[in-house]
Amino acid sequence: MTDRFSVDGRVALVTGASSGLGRQFALTLARGGAKVALAARRIDRLKALAEEISGFDGRAMPVFLDVTDASSVQAAVAATETELGPIAVLVNNAGVAVVKPALEQDETDWDKVLDTNLKGAWLVAQSVARCMARHGHGGSIVNIASILGWQTTGHLAPYAASKAALLHLTHSLAFELSRHKIRVNAIAPGYIETEINQEFLRGKQGQEALVRVPMRRYGISADLDGALLLLASEAGSYITGAVIPVDGGHAVTGIGA
Ligand code: NAD
Repeated sequence: MTDRFSVDGRVALVTGASSGLGRQFALTLARGGAKVALAARRIDRLKALAEEISGFDGRAMPVFLDVTDASSVQAAVAATETELGPIAVLVNNAGVAVVKPALEQDETDWDKVLDTNLKGAWLVAQSVARCMARHGHGGSIVNIASILGWQTTGHLAPYAASKAALLHLTHSLAFELSRHKIRVNAIAPGYIETEINQEFLRGKQGQEALVRVPMRRYGISADLDGALLLLASEAGSYITGAVIPVDGGHAVTGIGA
């Protein structure tokens, strides 16, 4: 029986691959045999990751990308197709948050978050989808949203708004791009430990907040592998417009928690 979850030989572009979840997505796809374009702004980190991947005979290529800059997006997509071939999988992962009380967030904060998380994701999705439509092979776009796309919390209003809009962009693109055999889905992580939030999550406040996670643990980046491989592979061939929460049940916590 063929492995319907296989990504072997597929070309994948992962944005924000220099750290955190993006790094994990790139490693998981490369371990599965995909040829991966590692796209972000910190090229030195991408080169180190590409070396790590070649260490297990995987194939990866670092490519500079600033998702907020349309010309940078076009150049990164073109470089990926020239070096690795037609893109079959896009993981739209690059994202930023500005953590401040709502009354203190200013226009610069709003623009930074929305330009990266929403406009950036749209620019990359459109650029890759144009290639997929032109080649006629279709493909899979996986947007990395958040449970804050429908849940609320303090100090993250622009971030939550950007992720809510990303979810609706996912639905709109799924509807329109189906005719080109392009599937568009989202993964909505809860709290997943990465180098930037580990200290907080393992600290007093983070441990107290665990009471709101039914599984009573925060996620690790490998917890997202299953959803990623489902959406990126043939196994997910009839799935489009879906949002998969990977959050230990956080988003379904009731008032009795
Ligand atoms: P992270 O800061 O480690 O990773 C974000 C990545 O995006 C970095 O590599 C960064 O360089 C890149 N990036 C930011 N702006 C960019 C730009 N303009 N152009 C190109 N790359 C850019 O954080 P993370 O936790 O790994 O987050 C990855 C994604 O997952 C984000 O979209 C985030 O919103 C989402 N997410 C994370 C969690 C979590 O708990 N870690 C939860 C929900 C959603």
